[in-house]
Amino acid sequence: MTELVSGGCLCSYVRYEYDGEIGSANYCHCRDCRKTTGSAFNIGICLQSSSLCVVAGRVKSYTKIADSGNTITREFCPECGSPLFTRASTKPQYIWVKAGSLDEAKWIKPMYQIWTDSAVPWAYINTKLPSFHQNRNVL
Ligand SMILES: [Zn+2]
Ligand SMILES: [Zn+2]
Repeated sequence: MTELVSGGCLCSYVRYEYDGEIGSANYCHCRDCRKTTGSAFNIGICLQSSSLCVVAGRVKSYTKIADSGNTITREFCPECGSPLFTRASTKPQYIWVKAGSLDEAKWIKPMYQIWTDSAVPWAYINTKLPSFHQNRNVL
């Protein structure tokens, strides 16, 4: 289903719109996601990067080599610090949007979880979801 999706950061300096197919969402338990969200895990939604448009403000970014070996760039609001987007250098056709930045929670449908080897023992999600000890190699 295609629907115009909108979202933004906490202070509304950065706003974005997405006009395309909404891909699956996933939980990521990796250490880097824990650090960048300040929470137990990240929930990312895979979108087509060419269909996502920042319509207000500008993001700042930070690039790091992940445990997977991939070069990962994380983008955030320079005013309020809210994390918004993640890009992987090996998959430029995709952008992962932080689920909490979307205006409507109904758009988010987590389908699986990755890096469960790194999961904390004090936060639980649906244990029936397909789970991967480390990265999931198919999209
Ligand atoms: Zn902001
Ligand atoms: Zn992660």
